[in-house]
Amino acid sequence: MPGSIVKVSGPLIVAEGMEDVKVYDVVRVSEQKLIGEVIELRGDKASIQVYEETAGLGPGEIVESTGNPLSVELAPGLIESIFDGIQRPLERIREQTGDRIARGIDVTSLDYDRKWDFKSTAKVGDKVSGGSILGTVQETKVVEHRVMVPPNVSGEITWIYNGEATITETICKLKTDKGEEIELPMLQKWPVRIGRPYKSKIPPMQPMVTGQRVIDTFFPVAKGGVAAVPGPFGSGKTVVQHQLAKWADADIIVYVGCGERGNEMTDVLMEFPELKDPRTGEDLMKRTVLIANTSDMPVAAREASIYTGITLAEYYRDMGYEVAIMADSTSRWAEALREMSGRLEEMPGEEGYPAYLSSRLAQYYERAGMVNCLGEDGRTGAITAIGAVSPPGGDMSEPVTQNTLRIVKVFWGLSAQLAYRRHFPAVDWLQSYSLYIDRLGDWYDEEVAADWSKLRDDAMRVLQEESELEEVVRLVGVDALSFHDRLTLEAARSLREDYLHQNAFHEIDTYASLQKQYRMLRLIMSYYREAIGALDSGVDFFDITAVPAIEKIGRAKYIHEDNLSEYDIIETELRNQLTDLVADGGLDYA
Ligand code: ADP
Repeated sequence: MPGSIVKVSGPLIVAEGMEDVKVYDVVRVSEQKLIGEVIELRGDKASIQVYEETAGLGPGEIVESTGNPLSVELAPGLIESIFDGIQRPLERIREQTGDRIARGIDVTSLDYDRKWDFKSTAKVGDKVSGGSILGTVQETKVVEHRVMVPPNVSGEITWIYNGEATITETICKLKTDKGEEIELPMLQKWPVRIGRPYKSKIPPMQPMVTGQRVIDTFFPVAKGGVAAVPGPFGSGKTVVQHQLAKWADADIIVYVGCGERGNEMTDVLMEFPELKDPRTGEDLMKRTVLIANTSDMPVAAREASIYTGITLAEYYRDMGYEVAIMADSTSRWAEALREMSGRLEEMPGEEGYPAYLSSRLAQYYERAGMVNCLGEDGRTGAITAIGAVSPPGGDMSEPVTQNTLRIVKVFWGLSAQLAYRRHFPAVDWLQSYSLYIDRLGDWYDEEVAADWSKLRDDAMRVLQEESELEEVVRLVGVDALSFHDRLTLEAARSLREDYLHQNAFHEIDTYASLQKQYRMLRLIMSYYREAIGALDSGVDFFDITAVPAIEKIGRAKYIHEDNLSEYDIIETELRNQLTDLVADGGLDYA
């Protein structure tokens, strides 16, 4: 028995006669079969958020439950796709209906006709269970898709296929313990609001290396970690995200875009497919899934989009991949939540956001992590989640930013002032933080250099001292500072200009390996240490700061990864020049 509409309020409808449905069931609304999801039940009345334009709907029209929760389709064909918030394939829809998504359109998320070359790796007689790998498909040039037994299924393989197949054709048959026969296609489905299962979580112990110095050195995110980046307009948020997508050592990128202004998302849709993958020389899309919500799409789809995105990320994690998911921006997502809450006439919390804003945000970020995957081969996978927030007017005290900061462990604060001074990436080193620093410090000290953590801490101290000294300079002028302090200012300037500043568009500077980061940082810090030593030996401040090799520090970022020994040469040169000064003019202690 279908229910019927009693009220329509924008993307929200209320229907009666819905006693058989469950919360989060997907329903089809009216003869047009618009897609909706039950978000609240009171008696036989269901509140339903509709993922399509509701104009023209009226009381009395029918509402039918599908009996299933909002789910995504998981199979080869996800990579390179562009979906909307409920995984409708934008390109294929456009081919069918033109630019605007026609209402009630019935199109599968993935292409059911396309054939894939399935290479079985499991064999008849194998006992398999959720997560066991049955075989592989070369999904794109750079991604090998591992076809897995869905969670909650197990048995012994009685038949397995090898060769071309669509995602709905049976590729494997199992006999369960109870003697039932199960036919498995490559395609599986999973409800977006429920995390996919894994064996156990692994504490994040390694950094996700991004090649961006300010991030890797000062504010690293762990593989499987969570980070937030606020992006006031023009602060370089897009460039930061592109850099992460291109360079982060992640196998798969899931990018969820929630744009407010129509053109914001169009930019992403235009730009992302243009990006090249520096590692493979292929298009970055060959390992990317895009989820896009443009402003002309209903708010409800935006609300679902981050769960859709993280479910896709989990699926690739389960294959044993390291996935980076970026949601841009979670503020737009939260606005969708606020709008739906308002229409439900819920009691508003801070600034009109529902009281469950923070738990919903947590439900997204909690699904990040490094895990031992289901399956017998002991593989691990990770999801690193990065959420952009766009606080109105750059005001970080607003609820979305504050609730996000309570959850995430890394905060890259982009600063409009730094961007205005053209210091890019405009990550404010005084405001940003990474709570992974202590845990990752050991990794850096073992894998990169034994004195990495010390060097990093010393450099951070110099930057912090700079901000205090600048206060003094503002009040009484630079001449009031001791030469010691003025050397600290010099070192801080060098850290900012020669280290933190990194040009995303320079072919060498765009990426720095951890070894290169270490060499660069050591160079600057050893100049600082030696300079202080020279000053203490009585050398004139102006002579110290005029040492010719200093100029080479300024150009050190353009040294190629293959020539890292050049840093040693500059370091020796600097040391010699300072030692000469001490010999010539320093205080004679003898
Ligand atoms: P937003 O997305 O925050 O509005 P963008 O990411 O588009 O800002 O950046 C604005 C401009 O800042 C870019 O067009 C570019 O010129 C400059 N920019 C940002 N980040 C960098 C960087 N890392 N290196 C060089 N230029 C940058």
